[in-house]
Amino acid sequence: MQELPLSAGNVATITKQFESWSPQDIIAWAHGTFGADLVVTSSFGDPVLAHMTWSTVKGSTVTLIDTQYLFAQTLWYAKVLAEQTAGNLEVIAPAETVLPDDLWQRDTDACCAIRKVAPLEHALANKSAWITGLRRDDSTSRANTPLVSHDMLRDVIKVNPLANLTQSDYNKYLEIHGLNEHPLTSQGYTSIGCWPCTRPAAVDGDARSGRWAGTEKTECGLHAKATV
Ligand code: SF4
Repeated sequence: MQELPLSAGNVATITKQFESWSPQDIIAWAHGTFGADLVVTSSFGDPVLAHMTWSTVKGSTVTLIDTQYLFAQTLWYAKVLAEQTAGNLEVIAPAETVLPDDLWQRDTDACCAIRKVAPLEHALANKSAWITGLRRDDSTSRANTPLVSHDMLRDVIKVNPLANLTQSDYNKYLEIHGLNEHPLTSQGYTSIGCWPCTRPAAVDGDARSGRWAGTEKTECGLHAKATV
């Protein structure tokens, strides 16, 4: 694996070079480059990012944001995967003052802001980099996801090591490593977030078509557009 020094000015160059790297090499590079200044987040709708991270960098941590509205299966699945992979799972939550309420029925943007975005930004405060599980074939809005970018809103380097993997790559990874899918995947949930806002994917829709189904909303706000 090459050594690649990183600065805000060469993010675009590095993301092109990464197109020929394996996700595991990118994950190792990010840990080697940023060390404790790196946060890895997964929604645990599938096991790939967490399993790759824990397998590639022993003793590393993967963070799950528990909005208080996750499916019980997601919390269970994350804990079982962490045990099986000897990984360090960190579960973070909204501020203590945020209690279960009906905001998701009235204002999903506000609900995501306090239950997802705020805990993420708290976790990223004073950090330099963030690894996510974004993939280009998640949806048309993610089709141009770079392998590395600068998230200007949070002032962190955002690394998306799985960006160029396909669903077929995913399926092969699960098969090779004997990994179980999330319990809801077999029921048609191809992208899994909070239970009030997640439905099985539409027959003619993309993998994220069950998220906020029937509304214009497609993203929760974690993946802001202000990136270069
Ligand atoms: S996905 Fe739904 S329940 Fe979860 S934080 Fe967003 S609006 Fe709230």
